[in-house]
Amino acid sequence: MYISKPTTMNFKSLPQLLDYFKEESTCRDYYQQIRWNGEEACPHCGSLKVYTTKRGFRCGDKECRKDFTVTTGTIFHNSNIPLRIWFAAIFLATTHKKGISSVQLALDLGITQKTAWHVLHRIREMLKEKSPQMLGENNMVEVDEAYIGGNNKNRHYGKKRSKEDYRFTNEGKPYQPKKMVIGIIERNGKVVLKHVPSADLNNVGSLISKHVPKGSTIYSDEAPVYNHLKKSYTHDNVKHSLNIYVEGNVHTNSIENFWSVLKRGLYGVYHQVSEKHLERYLDEFSARFNTRTLSSQERFEKFLVESESVLSYKRLINDL
Ligand SMILES: [Zn+2]
Repeated sequence: MYISKPTTMNFKSLPQLLDYFKEESTCRDYYQQIRWNGEEACPHCGSLKVYTTKRGFRCGDKECRKDFTVTTGTIFHNSNIPLRIWFAAIFLATTHKKGISSVQLALDLGITQKTAWHVLHRIREMLKEKSPQMLGENNMVEVDEAYIGGNNKNRHYGKKRSKEDYRFTNEGKPYQPKKMVIGIIERNGKVVLKHVPSADLNNVGSLISKHVPKGSTIYSDEAPVYNHLKKSYTHDNVKHSLNIYVEGNVHTNSIENFWSVLKRGLYGVYHQVSEKHLERYLDEFSARFNTRTLSSQERFEKFLVESESVLSYKRLINDL
């Protein structure tokens, strides 16, 4: 989609963004351009017959006739905080490599922590991939699983052999991790993450076949669940049991580096991530990673285009 933008806008930092978006009307005009590109559409029925009213717009469709504004049906819907603050929050949440906590965001933007928490969850809703990523068309793919959770005492992270560490406590007792995440990454490309109840053939196999075209090259560790990959893919595994981590192209370094950023963010910034919200945090981390080659402004605009989703507070705390 082509978006004609104000030519004066060019921001690389938060002060520059806030400088540009000084007035709420500038934010609304800008967002209107991003959302509709000069052709307003009714968010209730999709009609392009739209009238301007004092407070926004009215649908011209006979059956509909509903009023709306540029934020109706978006993550900004029914929000009391100005778009300017929202834009700053999106900028901060998408540029901090390990994320930003609601406590920090509240302090940075002068809003309450409860508001910041809700804002961040709505932003995560916006960051969610709307169509499945395909990996492996341009480069080799690595697949691995990670365990998120457990208490701090038992937690080791950022280590090469983290997966083995997660199976035992410091005292050497077996430790049952709560939340398992499967990660598929294309070298120098994108990552796909999914929280699964267990790393069985069903969960792992369906995720890989959804995101990796048959015939691609996949590397994993020696977990038996990956043995079936030979049927449809060129597959090889690293022999961690023999202390071999890299053998030519055969390694899982890309996904392990990603796990390290994810875990440092989840434990260091967010401290505790409940099972019901884990998927949202995964969306956040993969969205940031997958847009790492864009400039701050390009990234901001890319996400803003995808902001047409509403996550009500009620749904957030009750249904998920
Ligand atoms: Zn309508």
